[in-house]
Amino acid sequence: MKFFVNEKCIGCTLCASICPMVFSMNDRGVSEAIESEVEPAFEETAIEAMNSCPVNAIEQH
Ligand code: SF4
Repeated sequence: MKFFVNEKCIGCTLCASICPMVFSMNDRGVSEAIESEVEPAFEETAIEAMNSCPVNAIEQH
């Protein structure tokens, strides 16, 4: 399972606080997902972060 943050991100930091193993804020003030496959142990919180994004900026591939 992989995640991707699209251009709709408004930099609210919510995903990075819910699932810091997968999402982090970059120097442009928006979120980025790790490029590698998400470990199964972190999938649940990564999905929770995706579902919590107020602007649906997180995609799952
Ligand atoms: S929750 Fe959504 S809007 Fe907020 S930082 Fe994460 S991707 Fe961006």
